[in-house]
Amino acid sequence: MTMYVWGYLHEYADEREDILDAVETVFSSGQLVWGPHTERFERAFADYHQVPHCVAVDNGTNAIVVALRALGVGPGDEVVTVSNTAAPTVLAINAVGAVPVFVDIDPGTYLMDVGQVPAVLTERTRCILPVHLYGQCVDLEPLERLAADHDLALLEDCAQAHGARQAGRMAGTVGHAGAFSFYPTKVLGAYGHAGGTITSDDEVADSMRRLRYYGMDAERYYVKQTPAHNARMDEVHAEILRRKLTRLDAYIAGRRAVAERYTEALAGTELVLPATAPGNEHVYYVYVVRHPERDRIIEGMKRHDIHLNISYPWPVHTMEGFAQLGYKTGDLPVTERLADEIFSLPMYPSLSPSDQDRVVDALKSTLAAL
Ligand SMILES: *Cc1c(COP(=O)(O)O)cnc(C)c1O
Repeated sequence: MTMYVWGYLHEYADEREDILDAVETVFSSGQLVWGPHTERFERAFADYHQVPHCVAVDNGTNAIVVALRALGVGPGDEVVTVSNTAAPTVLAINAVGAVPVFVDIDPGTYLMDVGQVPAVLTERTRCILPVHLYGQCVDLEPLERLAADHDLALLEDCAQAHGARQAGRMAGTVGHAGAFSFYPTKVLGAYGHAGGTITSDDEVADSMRRLRYYGMDAERYYVKQTPAHNARMDEVHAEILRRKLTRLDAYIAGRRAVAERYTEALAGTELVLPATAPGNEHVYYVYVVRHPERDRIIEGMKRHDIHLNISYPWPVHTMEGFAQLGYKTGDLPVTERLADEIFSLPMYPSLSPSDQDRVVDALKSTLAAL
């Protein structure tokens, strides 16, 4: 059977009854947008993080957009982030008229090299946007200190890090706000597009609620704040996500078990395996490995009917669509080298040990044939 890195079809097979029951519940309620299921999910997701507010939105990109706006980031402001991320992180910065400023990544974790942040701060810096890529947190303490000292907003991109912790603190609860995607492949995924933000700040939460709802407060049809747009979560996704949230810790445990088996089985091969930074509890959204012959390995694996993935093959600063930022190849050497070597292996909670053996055996024979 053809294998892919994502497991949502397997998940649907396992959870079909519950998912369809959620759909039936919402569809027969007559309220498809803006109703009790969104509120229940928001309460549950906030409680999961032990914070007062969750604001549900329609996707992860808009989660970042409403959070940036609510945190006061706007035209001409600079936002410090990384180029080794999903393009939407940077598109969201673009969308509010702000300017992304990139620092390079740590060669061990592939996450923001926080030591480089002070050197890029300017008068115009308004926000630091660390991306908890692959499922573990960027070193947050130094960023908290910088944000406090320079009066900057700290926004965590948690799209790949639902339930991840650092020194006991959950991803999204350390900064002024955390932005999540519930895209189907993510650690907590909807059956379509969805996203959300969390915060402990009442004013930021109020602002995010307006920004995703035509700039309106409870008083309908009266716009209180602009720029705003329509970015609400559909009720059906909220109800599916609320049910899946009760299983999030089990999904994470499943992912960790898969990661452990890979790490054991692939030790001693030429692959560079993922490193977890001290104090981090990784949730393994993806299991990223490295090899200089990456492209040949991916081709070789196709012959075993196993389709691998690259997150991400092009650093954001090298893409044509971001040429106006003025970066050039060579500006972020660690990011650029990494993008040529990384790839990810099948990773989902229900990946069986026998399917995993198939991946490991295929990888070992592909490596031997290089
Ligand atoms: C998935 C993702 C996003 C965007 O989320 P969407 O729901 O696809 O809009 C943003 N940042 C990161 C790091 C992501 O992985």
